[in-house]
Amino acid sequence: MALQEAEEDRQVARHTVRGIIAAATKRQAAASESLANRAEKIAAVAAAHAAAVDSNSCFPSEAIDAARAARLLSAAVPVEFGGEGAKLSEIVDVCYRLGRSCASTAMIYAMHQTKVACVVRHGVASAWHQRMLRRLCNEQILLASSTTEGKAGGDVRNSAAPIERRDQRIALKRQATVISYGEAADGIVTTARRAADAASSDQVLVVFLKDDYTLTKLSGWDAFGMRGTCGEGFALDALGSAEQILPASYDKIHAHTMLPVAHLVWSGVWAGIAAAAVERARAFVRKAHGGSGAMPAGATHLTRASASLRTLRNLINASLQRFEAAASDPAALEAIDFQTAMAMHKVSASELAVATVMSAMQAAGIAGYRNDSEFSIGRQLRDILSSPIMISNDRIMANVAAATLLGSTPTSLRD
Ligand SMILES: Cc1cc2nc3c(=O)[nH]c(=O)nc-3n(C[C@H](O)[C@H](O)[C@H](O)COP(=O)(O)OP(=O)(O)OC[C@H]3O[C@@H](n4cnc5c(N)ncnc54)[C@H](O)[C@@H]3O)c2cc1C
Repeated sequence: MALQEAEEDRQVARHTVRGIIAAATKRQAAASESLANRAEKIAAVAAAHAAAVDSNSCFPSEAIDAARAARLLSAAVPVEFGGEGAKLSEIVDVCYRLGRSCASTAMIYAMHQTKVACVVRHGVASAWHQRMLRRLCNEQILLASSTTEGKAGGDVRNSAAPIERRDQRIALKRQATVISYGEAADGIVTTARRAADAASSDQVLVVFLKDDYTLTKLSGWDAFGMRGTCGEGFALDALGSAEQILPASYDKIHAHTMLPVAHLVWSGVWAGIAAAAVERARAFVRKAHGGSGAMPAGATHLTRASASLRTLRNLINASLQRFEAAASDPAALEAIDFQTAMAMHKVSASELAVATVMSAMQAAGIAGYRNDSEFSIGRQLRDILSSPIMISNDRIMANVAAATLLGSTPTSLRD
């Protein structure tokens, strides 16, 4: 019996060692190929499943599994914790590449990366979050986001449910109206009121891993577009340790990271969707032109679509440069002008993306409007229409209205 147990132990040890070697080999293989190349491969997987993900409104598990295998989920984690230390501009480029294939896959990747950025930029002083980042790299953990609560819509800077503390333990019970891929995620990063007696705007950000919480479904997700994000509503019931709360207060995290990073990665996804629509419109106009020799009537709309896509890409690159220049300077990040620019980046990017897809649809005419055509732009149009409502543009513009009054008109074009 003892001999048999010893042999079983040896076998378990052998499998464990093989697992460690396999993980290390995968890590080396992933590191030897550029992030852009790996993103293109995942985009191909996402493209193959995009129509089914959309029609069945299901989580894009093939693409996310492929992203895990290529270690894309940990790309932005610093090297010292097992990641690649990718810059935000590289991550936004991955979002763009994925967005051209499957908007839901791209948006899931973008939301995950926003949460990773919050932990990396505000959690590295905490031993718990350091351990979590190592686990994220080793296990390719997928993080979801919970900010929307009850009937408060996109009011991210106020929370209703408080953190309850018992010694070093914490509890949170939250009516989370939308948690994209809540069931598929390995963890949820959520805002919460700091304590029962705190103001609604006195918030913290907490990381709960799957073993820490239960989700009870409150609503399904049969949406117009972005159907694979699976943004169901849940009652979130979480228990954890006080160490899981990020050390910085949420107002800092929001201004320094959450708002700019979310808006930049989302806009990368939207530019990818817009690019896919322009590609289809161009293919349609080329075919029509080749057939008759004359430019089709809708060609002017393709000109407009291409031009607004170029403006969108320029806008994103300019905002990324601005963020990366300010990223480690708290005063620059908190400056009213910077905050207004990052808030309005979302409004402008979403408006440009919608306009681009609409122009592409007009260029392709009925061939773009049909679902059963090789030039169909229906999915892209439905997906892109989520962009103005994903934190409503109206709410954002109302929030920055006061700051706009404080500004002055530049005297030079170069200011
Ligand atoms: C694809 C997708 C994925 C999402 N994933 C998540 C997720 O994972 N986690 C999460 O927490 N949330 C998620 N959300 C929710 C999102 O973050 C917002 O909370 C939600 O889109 C806002 O919902 P609402 O329209 O009810 O909001 P509200 O902001 O309440 O807006 C409702 C209406 O009021 C108008 N309005 C609001 N404020 C003003 C104002 N000040 N002035 C004038 N009009 C105003 C708006 O234009 C809108 O018509 C997701 C949303 C989408 C579209």
